[in-house]
Order: sequence, then structure tokens, then C-alpha cells
Amino acid sequence: MKEIIYEENTNDNTEENTEEDIRENSEEHIEENNSDQNVRESDSNFSAKKSLGQNFLHSPQAISAMVFATDIKKGDVILEIGPGKGALTVKLLESGAKVIAFEKDDRAIPFLRKKFPDEIKKGDLTIVHEDILKLDIENNPYFKASKYKISANIPYYITGELLRKFLESNNQPEKMVLMLQKEVARRIVGEESKKTDKNGVKIKKESILSISVKAYGTPKYITTVSRKFFRPVPNVDSAILAINNISKDFFYEKDMKIDENKFFEVVKAGFAHKRKIVVKNLEEIIDKETLKRVWIELKIDTNVRAEELSLSDWKNIALNTNCFPQKSL
Ligand code: SAM
Repeated sequence: MKEIIYEENTNDNTEENTEEDIRENSEEHIEENNSDQNVRESDSNFSAKKSLGQNFLHSPQAISAMVFATDIKKGDVILEIGPGKGALTVKLLESGAKVIAFEKDDRAIPFLRKKFPDEIKKGDLTIVHEDILKLDIENNPYFKASKYKISANIPYYITGELLRKFLESNNQPEKMVLMLQKEVARRIVGEESKKTDKNGVKIKKESILSISVKAYGTPKYITTVSRKFFRPVPNVDSAILAINNISKDFFYEKDMKIDENKFFEVVKAGFAHKRKIVVKNLEEIIDKETLKRVWIELKIDTNVRAEELSLSDWKNIALNTNCFPQKSL
């Protein structure tokens, strides 16, 4: 799924809609209240490193929106990736979470230890000086047997790898709330196409990225966050995305288990050539007769393109092409 998820197209062709208007309104709201000094700007004593994707968040409202979306109960274990100067960490701690914060930047470690001495002493905050991509999720001393959630303003250059690592893991988080590049967040939830289904509802345009995430959880676009709320100001706007109900249930059907790798091989093949209809793309890996039979059985339009197929269509294709499901143990 690594390569799959890396196919992030940042072209922004989304049509405007009512949902977007709401997001824009919430963005204005964020701006109106941005004088709040909870972010402790005066604490900043190291400069941003581009190589570490450092764009520090300076919006108490955006931080509150992230904490709210994380839905923290007292004592919840929250994994924060890249606490930086601790702007989000402060609010996660205030909401009663036990925070485990992984930070790669050497300079941030003494800074954070100085900023949160009491929280560290009480055991509410654990700062781990480690590259999150090197973390062994299944065997680590921090959240091995416990349920945990992720809440993080992540460095955008590792978005795909992070999603793959945590969603595919055998110790998945319950929920992920991430600040992402806006176009990537929109792609994950699925952009609306001009076509409608039989009930007149606009069909979502799926991508390899959206199918890869939806196979493991339910993504929800929370709100847009303008680039002006970050220092230094990046070239793109951001958005808060929640991925709820994370599990591997999708890959189980009665006593059958769909092989995850094979499932994504099929999805990837289906999306291989954007201009081709999906059957033509799939002929590269599935014989024509099987495809013909499956298309009739599933009543799928022969001219359909990969982006018009839903997650459940992909599951049905996998289940009906027999080579993919395995007997589950
Ligand atoms: N959370 C802070 C905020 O909201 O202002 C900082 C967010 S900044 C976009 C990303 C943070 O991730 C930086 O502190 C950076 O040093 C850290 N980071 C970058 N790559 C990392 C990695 N591989 N593992 C852990 N932290 C990383």
C-alpha cells in the first residue's frame, strides 16, 4: 500500500458545494478569534526546519477543533506525532489525555522537557526522541496492550507512509485525527463527481488513496485551516481529517478473509490507466472470462471507470474473482 497511498494527486478540481461553504465559514471563525495567546508564542526559541516539515500551528481554534475531533476521555492514550513546540500537546494534556509524543528534532526535546516538567513527572506526558517511521507499532513499550488514538499536525512529506504504517498495522489506533494538506484530505474522503446515482445523489469520485483509507476506517473532513495560521506560512492550505472506526473488519466476510496485499494489487491495477475503463485495466491481471462473469453477476456497467467504483464494489470484485479470498483461521 506504500506506493498506492503515495499516489497523492494534489490537483484541486473539486467543485464548490455547501459543505465547503461551511468549512470556509469555520475558517473565518478561526481568524476572528486568533488573538488568543494559549499557543504560548513567546516560548518559541528554535527556528523551523523545512527538511522536517516544520510549519508550526498558531491557531487556538484549529487546535481546539483537533482536540474536539479526537474525542478524548480522561486517561485516553494519545499518540502525538511531531509535537514541535508543544502547541497541540498542551491542549491534549488539558483534556485529560496521557500523551506519548514522538519527535525527531533534537532541538525540540530539551525545549519540550523544559515546557512540561510537571506533566512529565506525573507520567501524563512521555516524550520519545525517535523517528515515528522507525517505530515498531506491534512491539513497543508505550502503547502495546492499550487502546490508543492519534492526534497530530504531521509533517506532510510523510503522510502516505504514516497512513500505511498505522492503518495496516496489527496494533491499529482506534482513531486518527490529522492535520493534512487540504487537497489530500479531500481526496481521501472522495470528491463529488458530476454524475448522480439512481437516487439523484452525487457519486463520490474515488482514488487509490481514498479506497486505501476507507478499507480500514471512515474518513471525515472536519474543517479547512488556512495556510496563514502556520509559521512559516506554507504554500498550501491544510485541513483536519478524522479517520474513525479503524479496524480490519472490511477484509473479513463470513469465514472468508480477503488478502490485504492482493486486494490492493487489484485496486492498483484497476486504476492503472486513468483513460481506460476499469475492465480493460483489470484484464492485465484477471482473465477476460472471469471479468465478464463477475461484471454480469454484480450488475456493474461495462463502461465504468475505476473512480466510479465504491469500496463495496471493490470488495465484491475481490470476493467474486475467487483467487483473492482465503479461508480465515
Ligand atoms: N505539532 C506542532 C504544531 O502543531 O505546531 C509541530 C507540527 S510540524 C508540522 C511537524 C513536526 O513533526 C515537527 O515538530 C517535526 O520536527 C516533526 N517531525 C518531522 N518528521 C518526523 C518524524 N519522522 N518523526 C517524528 N517527528 C517528526
